Amino acid sequence: MSGAADKIDAAAVERWLRRFAELIAEHESDLTALDAAIGDADHGTNMMRGMQAVVAVLDGGAAEQPADLVRQVGMTLVSKVGGASGPLYGTFFLRMAPALSAAADGGSFAAALRAGLNGVVARGRAEPGDKTMFDALAPAFDALDAALAEGRDLAAALRAAAQAADAGRDATGPMAARKGRASYLGERSVGHVDPGATSAALLVAAAAALVDGDGVA
Ligand code: ADP
Ligand code: MG
Repeated sequence: MSGAADKIDAAAVERWLRRFAELIAEHESDLTALDAAIGDADHGTNMMRGMQAVVAVLDGGAAEQPADLVRQVGMTLVSKVGGASGPLYGTFFLRMAPALSAAADGGSFAAALRAGLNGVVARGRAEPGDKTMFDALAPAFDALDAALAEGRDLAAALRAAAQAADAGRDATGPMAARKGRASYLGERSVGHVDPGATSAALLVAAAAALVDGDGVA
């Protein structure tokens, strides 16, 4: 992958979102099972409802500018998904928008993802180790920034990010939840992987898949 192929344009963002929707559909029952253990058993349903609404927006002819596209997605998730995850994921995409140019290079795509995460924190006040989606996203974007700083291309950097997201997701298992519904369980949430960290790892995996194949992005 080189030159223009290293740019994230609206078509690439659309492929990322469609891939995320597919992964959510594949993992819907796993996400719900994780939420049944430490929440109210609706995370798979919530994410499925949200991403189906996003796909409907895409099918209806999505915006041509990446910034407008992620703004549409954010508004869709905020309005269609009940529960904590809708506003949080919605805010993530809304906050990405100002940082996304027409054809973002790796660095500005990474900066947009970081802005999205900052939005999640502004909204939900998650800190490291609280056992939330933050614990998958933060290490992923740290790994992305580090890989790009080392001069790796966007595909390799996103693969590193996906690995870090998976590791971050797994690391939520031994944590006691301090935010969201699972925090009501306190120590009893220990031993269960966080559902939101699991869907967040899928979001990063979808981005890695986007630039993995030949001719994609
Ligand atoms: P609800 O908890 O309202 O039923 P979901 O089940 O869809 O909503 O989502 C639960 C997930 O939301 C959790 O697993 C966690 O990762 C995430 N979450 C909850 N509260 C916060 C927060 N304050 N900051 C970041 N993520 C959070
Ligand atoms: Mg829930």
